[in-house]
Amino acid sequence: MPQYIVRKGKYNYEVAKFDDTDTPVDVYRFHARGCSCPARSKSCKHTKMVNAWKRAGSPEGVVYNDSIEEISNIFTGSIISDSSIRR
Ligand SMILES: [Zn+2]
Repeated sequence: MPQYIVRKGKYNYEVAKFDDTDTPVDVYRFHARGCSCPARSKSCKHTKMVNAWKRAGSPEGVVYNDSIEEISNIFTGSIISDSSIRR
């Protein structure tokens, strides 16, 4: 199950995608024109994720799933490594 972490890069927001991995399998960067993913759409999942994250007050380390639901936080306890959530 893919997991996503939104973070603020040096200049732009980034969405890092993990797939039960320790390192990101993809990183989507945001520019003035929007997300850098192939969809190049203002309404892609990553854009919605960044907006949801900003609305939540830009909490550090929040992990989202494919449905943009908060599933974990890498700083306050990693549920990602809990096998119960993978099923
Ligand atoms: Zn995107």
